[in-house]
Amino acid sequence: MGQIIDGKQVAESMKSAIALEVSELINAGKRPPHLVAILVGNNGASETYVANKVKSCEELGFVSTLLRLPPTISENELLDQVIKINTNSEMDGLIVQLPLPDHINPDRVMETIDPRKDVDGFHPINIGRMAKGLPAYISATPQGVLDLLAYYKIETAGKHCVVVGRSQIVGLPMSILMQRNHPIGNCTVTITHSKTKNLIEICQQADILIAALGKPEFLNATYVKEGAVIIDVGLTRIVDETKKSGFSLKGDVDFNDVFEKCSYITPVPKGVGPMTIVSLMKNTLLAAKCVIYP
Ligand code: NAP
Repeated sequence: MGQIIDGKQVAESMKSAIALEVSELINAGKRPPHLVAILVGNNGASETYVANKVKSCEELGFVSTLLRLPPTISENELLDQVIKINTNSEMDGLIVQLPLPDHINPDRVMETIDPRKDVDGFHPINIGRMAKGLPAYISATPQGVLDLLAYYKIETAGKHCVVVGRSQIVGLPMSILMQRNHPIGNCTVTITHSKTKNLIEICQQADILIAALGKPEFLNATYVKEGAVIIDVGLTRIVDETKKSGFSLKGDVDFNDVFEKCSYITPVPKGVGPMTIVSLMKNTLLAAKCVIYP
């Protein structure tokens, strides 16, 4: 039977540690960490994500600036805003909420952010440094997964880790991190995607199965080896009239079906989700303290 990995509780304890570090900074006469978020347009989900990030900044004693820009802004005008923030020494971290309107190339925007302020870890320099095992900002969700594995002292060395999904923000960095020569790493990693053949057989070999495909309850007990550790990154809103909000959140794993078979499992919600925002805060604190790029 699975032990539930309580991401909410781990996130709360990490938040307390971060808030303590912020008060130590202030007591030492320094300014608090400052996170800038750029939000282009009025995408409803993006509004919610950014609002949560601003709220976390308030809770932890960070300064935050939310720069709202119209959906009609040109790519060059947006890049000018990024460059201004890059050169502002009072601003430590910068995130540009994705997705951007179709006329703006997100890669150009990410590459314009100063890697020293790229607390989302999306700049190619940070991705490259991460792959080489050098100090780097690691994108928030994969970092959150590493922190959960560490907190629960889950052995990773020599294990077969199967990552389902190869996106730039979750699957790809996750696969790189799990194979690194690092206390949470040293796995033999298989990364899979929508063109993978025999997904069931591959997943059945996983000691650690990381699901990040964005297909609610796709992975059931058939995909799971007895005793596997299941990390469910998936987060999809499903219409649910029994809920006050009108929707419920589903992961990529059929929790009830796999629960008896696995050793550990992250639930949805309250698994990986709460860790993502904490990782962003942690990166912003590292930026304020110039830890990654001294
Ligand atoms: P994404 O960009 O849509 O990528 C999905 C990946 O899954 C792609 O690589 C895709 O393959 C692969 N895939 C799709 N169907 C598959 C199938 N049937 N078999 C194997 N692979 C398949 O999604 P994402 O941004 O990585 O997000 C994945 C999920 O994580 C979503 O539910 C998202 O909401 C959630 N998420 C949660 C958090 C959090 O804080 N908890 C943060 C980020 C994302 P191709 O490359 O071949 O298309």
